[in-house]
Amino acid sequence: MAIVGIDLGTTNSAIGCYVEGKPKLLPNPLGNVLTPSVVGVDDDGTLIVGEAARELQVIAPHRCASIFKRHMGTDWSTELNGLRFDAANLSAAVLRSLLCDATHHLGEVVDRAVISVPAYFNERQRRATIAAGELAGIKVERILNEPTAASIAYGLHDDGEEKVIAVLDLGGGTYDVSIVAIFGGVVEVQASSGECFLGGEDFTSAIVSRLLEREGLIYEHAEIERPLLVSRMRRLCETVKLELSRETETQTRMPSVSGDAQWSDRAHRISRDEFERWTEPLLDRTEPPLRRALGDAKITVDDVDMVVLVGGATRMPSFRDRVTRRFGKSPQCSIDPDQVVALGATIQAGLLDRDEALDDLVVTDVSPFTLGVETSKDFGTEVRSGYFTPIIFRNQPIPASRSKAFATMHANQTTITLKVFQGESRLVEGNVLLGELDVEGIPLGPRGQQIECRFTYDLNGVLEVEATIVETQEKKTLVISRNARPLSESELHEALEAMRELKTDPRDKAQNRLLMKRAERVIEEMPMGARNELESLLDGFEEAMSARDDAVTARFQTAIQELLDQWEMESRRDR
Ligand code: AMP
Repeated sequence: MAIVGIDLGTTNSAIGCYVEGKPKLLPNPLGNVLTPSVVGVDDDGTLIVGEAARELQVIAPHRCASIFKRHMGTDWSTELNGLRFDAANLSAAVLRSLLCDATHHLGEVVDRAVISVPAYFNERQRRATIAAGELAGIKVERILNEPTAASIAYGLHDDGEEKVIAVLDLGGGTYDVSIVAIFGGVVEVQASSGECFLGGEDFTSAIVSRLLEREGLIYEHAEIERPLLVSRMRRLCETVKLELSRETETQTRMPSVSGDAQWSDRAHRISRDEFERWTEPLLDRTEPPLRRALGDAKITVDDVDMVVLVGGATRMPSFRDRVTRRFGKSPQCSIDPDQVVALGATIQAGLLDRDEALDDLVVTDVSPFTLGVETSKDFGTEVRSGYFTPIIFRNQPIPASRSKAFATMHANQTTITLKVFQGESRLVEGNVLLGELDVEGIPLGPRGQQIECRFTYDLNGVLEVEATIVETQEKKTLVISRNARPLSESELHEALEAMRELKTDPRDKAQNRLLMKRAERVIEEMPMGARNELESLLDGFEEAMSARDDAVTARFQTAIQELLDQWEMESRRDR
């Protein structure tokens, strides 16, 4: 039985295992250590994950889901080919695919995992991540903050010198900043801050939006009315964005706005300057979390010895320039920013497994939010409710357990409802409600009966609230009643059954499935006259696969691959 580390990313996910004294990321059947976090249901009802699902998404966006990490812990759900999925189900599908790859490479069953989440993930989002692990059939031993994971990877990798590092993580969908101290094998997170709705995908959307504008369309409307057009454009604009990280100018063709499937000859020229102007407001949003994290750690940029970049979107030159200007030094990226979190999670898994190579490494983390309860204030003439009383403060080292005593406001008051909130606002209306706990059975008597409220925040960043009526010593524990609560036995059983009923793509078919999906997408991009050759190759390919003739299948595979590569190369040259 093995334990693995998993980066369940917004755009890509990765899995690793600590072997022979080193963290090692395990490749998927296509040989890649990054698997796109995209889930689709094929027309035969098969659940597909990764590259093939990303191809399918271009031609059948209604049957695929991506960027669902943003919806973890919310009521959001989506229907794919008649089946309903919430964000935890979709994450479970990605996890199952990663676990299958790990089992294949390790030759043993994986039953436990460390999963990383953005530091700014709230209680519900963390619980939803744990639920996704349960749905995938594993025990989530630890939820680890992504910047902490990155620091662990750098901490292990580094020269052992004492230093303060700033970890800036701009992934596909989220942005996190952490201030971390590293000394003598200790990785100590001192402050974390972030934005749940800022990531590389927003930079892609900015290009889509501007190009649609040039055609007289509005992004938000087009997304609903022309989903196919928008999904094709997203794919193109993603390439544009990546090219603009290397080149100062690029071009792209646009699918015709008058017909979803056809291509217009219209080429759009986009310069890096233009892209940077369009996305400057997005870059500006990276500043407040940085200021908050520095302030909480009680340091300035001058105290930061090293800036570490995590997440694919930190490759944008505009992001790097801004970081260099802000810190007065160039950022570090000696570990691949796409792999550093998974490597850190894998090292943490090794720590939990007590791998002796990691004996000297100690990791401490902090609570990213303030947690507390709603209280009322007695102003003599009136009692006003809606005030937020903190119990565990933001950036306090975890695990943490703190209690505070509250008193009844009226004589003979026998119940109190403790409303638990997270956030930084003085009034609860500006914070997030996490749950409510009814405390009944307070003995009759004058006002001022004491209730002790204890908050325990564990290493996974999961909160437990316990209330004790001081006089009777009767205790009550909070069960968070939102949808991201841990699943009950029967719910888990039901959800597991439903997942089991879904057909999944066999590992050995992954290559062929990807080739078919890529070919289906390219066929739709080709002019009618050019399709015949590819279509007949595909017919032969399908026939050989059904006849289980491996040699002929391989020949068709090569021929199709060559044709697709050639078409894609030519269509880039045309631009
Ligand atoms: P992650 O969630 O860390 O995998 O980050 C994925 C995000 O990084 C996506 O939005 C990608 O488009 C973006 N990304 C990856 N490589 C680059 C690059 N070279 N230039 C700009 N953005 C990139």
